[in-house]
Formats: sequence, C-alpha cells, structure tokens
Amino acid sequence: MPNTTLAAAPPGAVAGRPPAFDNSYALLPEALFARLPPTPVSAPRLLRLNDALAAELGLDPAWLASPAGVAMLAGNHVPDGAEPIAQAYSGHQFGHFSPSLGDGRAILLGEVVTPAGERRDIQLKGSGPTPFSRRGDGRAALGPVLREYIVAEAMAALGIPTTRALAAVATGDHVFREHALPGAVLTRIAASHIRVGTFQYFAARRDAASLRALLDHAIARHDPAAADAENPALAFFEGVVARQASLVARWMLVGFIHGVMNTDNCAVSGETIDYGPCAFLDHYHPETVFSSIDHQGRYAFANQPAIAHWNLARLAEALLPLIGEDEAAAVEKAKAVLARFSPAFGAAWRAGLLAKVGLHDERPGDEELIQDLLARMAEQEADFTLAFRRLADAAEGDGEGFAVLFADPAAGRDWLARWQARIAADGVAPGARAAAMRAVNPAYIPRNHLVEEALAAAVQRDDLAPFEALLEVLARPFEDQPRRERYAEPPRPEQRVRATFCGT
Ligand code: AMP
Ligand code: MG
Repeated sequence: MPNTTLAAAPPGAVAGRPPAFDNSYALLPEALFARLPPTPVSAPRLLRLNDALAAELGLDPAWLASPAGVAMLAGNHVPDGAEPIAQAYSGHQFGHFSPSLGDGRAILLGEVVTPAGERRDIQLKGSGPTPFSRRGDGRAALGPVLREYIVAEAMAALGIPTTRALAAVATGDHVFREHALPGAVLTRIAASHIRVGTFQYFAARRDAASLRALLDHAIARHDPAAADAENPALAFFEGVVARQASLVARWMLVGFIHGVMNTDNCAVSGETIDYGPCAFLDHYHPETVFSSIDHQGRYAFANQPAIAHWNLARLAEALLPLIGEDEAAAVEKAKAVLARFSPAFGAAWRAGLLAKVGLHDERPGDEELIQDLLARMAEQEADFTLAFRRLADAAEGDGEGFAVLFADPAAGRDWLARWQARIAADGVAPGARAAAMRAVNPAYIPRNHLVEEALAAAVQRDDLAPFEALLEVLARPFEDQPRRERYAEPPRPEQRVRATFCGT
C-alpha cells in the first residue's frame, strides 16, 4: 500500500527533490488573492502520504516524507519557488450571497506541472488564519481532514472527477470547536481552485479587469479551445455546464450527496470539491439529506441537478459582461447554453442507470423498468450500492441476494422477473453482462458508518489502522475483496449515521 510514515533522516541529509513549482495564479492581478505564508504549527507529524498520487504529480515521495517535506506539508516551511496565497471568492451559501468568503483556512502554495503535462494546485487546508478568515481560526480538525482524505480518494478510485488528497499531517495543536480536538492539515491537489464564487467575487465588485484576467486564466487551464471560439466567455460557460452535468450524474450513480453545493463549493474544472457534510446513500431514497445544517433539504440527493443548474445560472450572471456588451443579447446567449444542462444531465443519468442494470442499448419500456426499480427500492428501503452489485449476481442466475435487500423480498423478486424477461431478449452472455455490471456498480463505497468508525479511532485513540484499512479497500471499489465482506455490508440499525457535520 502506498504509505510512508515520517522516517528520521540524518541531520543535514538531503532527502530527495523538492517540488518544482510553476505558479500561474500568483501572476494574476493582486485583487484576486492575498499573499501570505501559512502559519507554523507546534509539532508536525506525517499521518499519511499518498505515494501513488505523488508519483502521478511528478513529486518525490522521499522528499515529501523527509523533515523538510513534512515541514512544507504542515505549513512550517515554504520551499523555494512556492508563492503562498489565499484566493478571494464569494459564494451563495444556501441561496444567500456572501460577497467576501475566500480561503479562510487554506493557502495555495503554488502549482506544479505533472509529467503528463497537467497543471495542478498544491493547497494546504487548515494552514492558519488569512485576511479571509472572518471569525474563524483558519484551522482544521483531524476528523474532517481524514474524512476529506478518505472520500476524495474513494471518489478518484470510482473514476469520478475530484480534488485529491496528497497528505495529512497532525499539527500537535488543538483546535477548539465544541470541544478541544486534535488539529491537522490536509494537502489538497486540484486542477484549479477556481469556483463559480471566484467569478462572482469580481462581478459583484464590478471589477471588469480582474474578471477578464480570471476568465482568460480559467480558459487556459480548463478550456483552451474556448480561447479561439467566436465568444470565448460563452464557450467557457458551455464547458462548465457540460462538466457539471456529467459530474452530478456521476455522483448520483454511486449514491453520493455532496451536502453543501454552495457556489463557492462548485469548481469550474468539473472536479468535486469541498468534502464537508457529504455522505453516500445507504438505502435509496431521493429525498435523503444527511447534512445537519441543511434543514430545508436544499441539497438532498435528487435536488442536486436542480442546484447545479441554479449555480450555473449564477455563473452566467457573473460572466454576462464578458459574454457581450449588450446585456439583453448576452442574457439570451447564456440562457441558450444553460438550457443544455438538463438534457446533458438527463442523458448521462439515463445512460448510467442503463449500464447499472446491465442493459447496453435502450429499448421501449426500459425507462419504466428502471423507474420501477428505483420506486421499489425507495419504498422497500433497499441498499443502493448492494442492490446494483447483487443484480450482477442475478445476471448469472442468483437473484435471491438481490431480493432479500428489499424489506419485502417479493417486491424484489417481482421486479427481477420483469428484468429477466427484458435481458433474455438481447442475447448478451450472462458472464459478460455480469462483468460489465460489476465494472460500473461498486462493491465498496465510503459507507458513512465505516468512515465514522475510522475517524473515531484516529481522533479518540490516535489509532490510524482503521483509516488505513478503509483506504486500502476503497482503492479497488469494483473488485470483490475476499475477507473484506464487512466493508460491503450496509450498517446495522445501531450503526446507521443519520446526520453529518461539516466540522469547520
Ligand atoms: P466551507 O464550509 O469549507 O465551504 O467554507 C466556507 C467558508 O468559510 C470559506 O470561505 C472558508 O474559508 C471559511 N471557513 C471555514 N472554516 C473556517 C475556519 N476554521 N477558519 C476560517 N475560515 C473558515
Ligand atoms: Mg468551501
């Protein structure tokens, strides 16, 4: 398993090669950020280094695990070439506009270009106060840091665009929330940290020059072809719309609920960002909400496409002056592009569901067949992940494991009979169908009770073994892993997590 713990290097020894920073955001107008270093912590201790990701990034794991590397990951040492900044952004939080959010507890150290030629941000989260901290302490507690580590890496293994976790470091300091908690710093890797809210920040201030510079930068990073389009701002918007439509469909196809889809937590790169009160469905129900602060169910499972659409409308508003000087005409152009969201989401969602139930072409009646399955799952509290996984077994003849997931197994058997009649018609060999289904229906997701168990062991007993074990299982979500059946099981009633907290 890729994991390195802090090895004692002899004093003065040079352990490996520090990152070769290549910063582009820090060259933009100064209004886009504040320059400041991270605030040092008392006693940095490397908890986990993602060696495989380091290699992908072209970073040297030996250096990262060395005292100098750990000092960088803790915010105690700013290596040559880093240009630490806190980025400015606004955001609609639960529908209300906050003009000044920004990195209140994060510092972008700089960027690297990977061996594959991709630009990536290296950001420390929990690295101390910044001019954007408002009343916050700029710090992060160990639990939420490990939670983001687990879920981000699980999403990556599931093939879903996401920011990544490079490292988690304990600070040796306490952070004070309801109780004193151990502090930690997460090193987050992202294609960029540009959010819908970043555009809103400059639009709200009518700072046309910064807005233009931000757009050009975002286009260069995420939509280089848009630079040559007739209307680059509109072409960029089109790219963001397409990426969000695909992303939200992919979330929902694995039962993911982001939990806090504010416009400041919506990345224009199309990566999932800001794992706060996120959670995965246990049993399927479209209205499921876990976040303890989402009282209205704004960010409920099935509301996510509507919210992404709403967020994209806010991006369109921010981009209007760049889309055209004639506002009415610009609005019409933006609306036409935004109108593509729902069909794009719908197509991705339907194609994904079709694959999940093992159908490779859509025939009349398939949509109803799938809707009937979802309705029965909701009514009968069937586990979302296991139902689809066990449907692959049913393709090879064993349907009872699927049926018993329904409170009344007859509801499962009934549906299975309809499905078997449908698949009998398309001539796909049972083994081939089952294999195709297992490649899209994970056996393992970061189940809420397993995540909580791993966090509790780390926070209460300084025991990282459950965290490590969970990461190892989640790295191969589509493979059945012998002796790890426990990780695939739904929670027992007393294990069920009903609410999640952002822990900020
Ligand atoms: P989030 O809930 O992580 O999306 O954060 C929303 C906003 O609150 C962002 O501007 C964060 O930088 C800020 N924030 C969250 N936690 C803290 C903290 N402990 N100290 C300072 N700012 C914070
Ligand atoms: Mg955020």
